[in-house]
Amino acid sequence: MRLLIARPMTAAVEARACAEFDVEIRGSTTPLTSDDMFRALTEFDVVVPTLGDQFSAQIFAAVPTPRCKLLANFGVGYNHIDVAAARNVGVAVTNTPGAVTDATADIAMTLLLSTTRRAGEGERLVRSGHWQGWHPTQMLGQHVTGKRVGIVGMGRIGQAIARRCHFGFGMQVAYQSRSPKNVDFPADFIPDLKALAAQVDFLVLAVPGGAETRHLINASVLEAMNPSGLLINIARGEVVDEAALIAALQSGQIAGAGLDVYEFEPAVPQALCDMENVTLLPHLGTATEEVRTDMGHMALDNVAAFVVGRPLPNPV
Ligand code: NAP
Repeated sequence: MRLLIARPMTAAVEARACAEFDVEIRGSTTPLTSDDMFRALTEFDVVVPTLGDQFSAQIFAAVPTPRCKLLANFGVGYNHIDVAAARNVGVAVTNTPGAVTDATADIAMTLLLSTTRRAGEGERLVRSGHWQGWHPTQMLGQHVTGKRVGIVGMGRIGQAIARRCHFGFGMQVAYQSRSPKNVDFPADFIPDLKALAAQVDFLVLAVPGGAETRHLINASVLEAMNPSGLLINIARGEVVDEAALIAALQSGQIAGAGLDVYEFEPAVPQALCDMENVTLLPHLGTATEEVRTDMGHMALDNVAAFVVGRPLPNPV
């Protein structure tokens, strides 16, 4: 059984992979190329791919009888894998749900607080040496406590964000997802996205990526938001029409944005970099040592189950 891991992992995960499997761990931190994916499917039994590895229908069409039988994705989001095309050629796909939830919710709150309280701008001011000292109207931001938050995608991460907003900041929570949820705190289900956008101060995105949610946040949703409204995206870049977001920010239709993900990642439009009212993070959602180790163990648990023919713990 030959295993390919598509990126360097934490030391704990690499140690386990080397102890348990005949593994090749790719040294590069960049996504697999088409040639890499062809080799992955033809020379290995299991592959641990991750974000950016575009296992498209085309790739599977080029390898109709792959040696590889499992893509044990490192990450909960798997919109970079055409799961139906994989299934058609006998390749199963698993992911790492749960391990990422709290860390990603924390990054949503980081973006929300940084954007409302102008933390990025303030940090840049201090570092520039141009700060002239405290005064009563210096760099006034938006208060967070008691405000209204709208969560788009009330799944594991959406609910973890909502909990933080309700219990930590006394916020009123409303949400949109495909179905209403039972949660142990007040949260209004508002199935219409524009209606939700219109009645909240902060709209926070936590849906999966993929064809179904591409450009879910478009010009008309942004238009429905309040001029003081903020958009926070920890989901996937493609969920937002980035050109429409830039236009809405430039015209003052919305007040700001906090982004962890980008439509054409890792390219970030200069227009966004030029705006002080936008917080930009380099896809840090799950970036802690502990969480990346948990994710790696979860991916390897799926590999281990596959090897001995047990049911896969996290099939998608
Ligand atoms: P999850 O538990 O499956 O939750 C997804 C939620 O989105 C569900 O509530 C689902 O609604 C809702 N949804 C799905 N399609 C929708 C649609 N078309 N319209 C409205 N709502 C829709 O997933 P999760 O674990 O919370 O993760 C969510 C996503 O976060 C991942 O897929 C990934 O892309 C992203 N993520 C980003 C980072 C980062 O580093 N920034 C880290 C981890 C995850 P129902 O429950 O009603 O079906």
